[in-house]
Amino acid sequence: MTKLSNPTEIARETLKQLAMRRMLPSPDHYEAIYHEIAQTPELERLHPGLKELIDALSKLPQQSQVVTRQIDQIRSAINQEKWAEIPESIFRIVSSQTDQAELSKGWSELIRDLILQWDLRNPSYTPSRKKEALDRVLLNFKQDSAVLNEKLNGLINAWAETGIGSVSDIDVSSALGESSPSQSESSQAKEVEWREWRDAFTQALEFGLATKLLHNIDLQSETLAIAQEAKAVDSIATMEKWVPRLRKFWLKLELENDNEQRLCDGLMGLLRLLTDNMSAIVVDDEWVRGQIAVVQHIMAQPLDMRVIYDAEVGLKEVLFKQSQVKHSLVEAQAVLKNMLTSFIDRLGYMSESTDKYHDKINTYAEKIDSANDLTSIRHVMEDLLQDTRSMQLDVRRSRDDLFEARQQADEAHHRVMELEAELSKLSDKVREDQLTGALNRRGLEEAYEVETSRAMRTSSPLAIALLDIDNFKKLNDSQGHAAGDTALIHLVKVVKDLVRPTDTVARYGGEEFVVLMPETDIAGAIQVMQRVQRELTKRFFMHNNEKMLITFSAGVTLYRAGEARDASIERADQAMYHAKKSGKNRVITLD
Ligand code: GH3
Ligand code: MG
Ligand code: MG
Repeated sequence: MTKLSNPTEIARETLKQLAMRRMLPSPDHYEAIYHEIAQTPELERLHPGLKELIDALSKLPQQSQVVTRQIDQIRSAINQEKWAEIPESIFRIVSSQTDQAELSKGWSELIRDLILQWDLRNPSYTPSRKKEALDRVLLNFKQDSAVLNEKLNGLINAWAETGIGSVSDIDVSSALGESSPSQSESSQAKEVEWREWRDAFTQALEFGLATKLLHNIDLQSETLAIAQEAKAVDSIATMEKWVPRLRKFWLKLELENDNEQRLCDGLMGLLRLLTDNMSAIVVDDEWVRGQIAVVQHIMAQPLDMRVIYDAEVGLKEVLFKQSQVKHSLVEAQAVLKNMLTSFIDRLGYMSESTDKYHDKINTYAEKIDSANDLTSIRHVMEDLLQDTRSMQLDVRRSRDDLFEARQQADEAHHRVMELEAELSKLSDKVREDQLTGALNRRGLEEAYEVETSRAMRTSSPLAIALLDIDNFKKLNDSQGHAAGDTALIHLVKVVKDLVRPTDTVARYGGEEFVVLMPETDIAGAIQVMQRVQRELTKRFFMHNNEKMLITFSAGVTLYRAGEARDASIERADQAMYHAKKSGKNRVITLD
């Protein structure tokens, strides 16, 4: 339908439509068709009275959600001509206005409470937490002041319940509004707040965390550094910049926790292995000396997964060998016991048979005494000779048996002693590298202690050499790992053959060895190493029927009184590195 704008035309068209639609020409029908043709907007079709009413309601001072909802309700009631619903909605609007008025009264109190609680110190709600909660409530409930009022009240109550109630002087005066705080006072309050926060945080780091990280020097230093940095944080802005660094640090700590757990599990396993075996093997100071030393050694240094693992492997091997030797020892002891039993049996038999002959001889003596003719004497003599002959035989046999038994007992005893010595020696194996028989890292540490204190005591030189096999990886790759292992054994053998018995040969790493040469100056040490190099060009080892030669590069240095093991070995390592750089298969010194 085209929109008509002239009222006369609209009126004419309305009447036409009423006739066409066969509708009663009542005022209501007329009005309805009129608006339809004029396309009057919904609101304007209302009765002027109703329109006025809605206008007035829309202008009420408290436009809460209740008001808008009830105005919509009135409109829909008008449309559906449900007039009875309109007073109810008006009543709701009016009472919400009264509530709002009361609420408004409540706002002033609420704001006072808010300021008071804001300034009160509260361990559960730090100022930043308070700010965050307040922002959230203001954002979420800003549409409805009644709800907002209620939520804010809830928030303030929560702060009040968990607060400790202490309030600084500055806080009190500002909270009670006795005098409005000057700018310097409020910044002073802020400064106090930051200082408290920083102190608590740095103390937690320095005394709570750092003291727990004694075994991890790096992490401990980082904790102390973070504590220092925290002291410089004095505003939200600097804190926000600093937080990512803190987060990274937490992550590291978490990883460290994992490592610690693994360390503890490894250590527990090791201790269990040791204690289980101590009860299985006869407890003897000599036999368990080495094992106990390992555990003591581990306990004496910062826990490290590698140390624990190495110790466990070493211990297992020694314990296995010891249990084998122990088995042989038990057998040898049983043999010895048997020997001794038969030895005693024979001794008993011998004395028994001597007693028997003794009795017989007595009888013969009596017979000789009472004999009054030669014939009876001759008979006695014959019997006597007979008995003496068999007695002689018996005694000889017994003596031979005795001799043999004694020999066997001696042998068994000897074997027991040998096995006991072997068992005790195996204990020392925990200081040895299982593949090459050179000392391992632990053995080196002990030998180093001994040699350096001797060198200092006697003011004599102690030379330290570090050897690294040349192109070892290539040998492994081309000939296989077994060939590599044989080369390591070969090298140790040659070195041991050429150094003095008082020198120490230790495996320092995969194909790296350290030689400690007491009472040797630098020139002497170089000579020894070069002698080993020459020997290696002559002495080869066999692999797959092939002759194999190896060379090594070495760094030599002298121990400086009082310096740490790491320092002297590191110097030897640097020298060795120079030897590699300048073409390998040579000896370089650094002192
Ligand atoms: P460079 O001359 O510079 O010393 O070279 P390199 O190949 O000797 O040195 P690198 O450090 O690259 O290789 C050392 C190799 O030693 C790598 C490793 O597989 C091997 N290795 C370490 N321990 C053992 C072991 O017990 N047995 C065997 N067969 N090989 C080992
Ligand atoms: Mg190497
Ligand atoms: Mg090498």
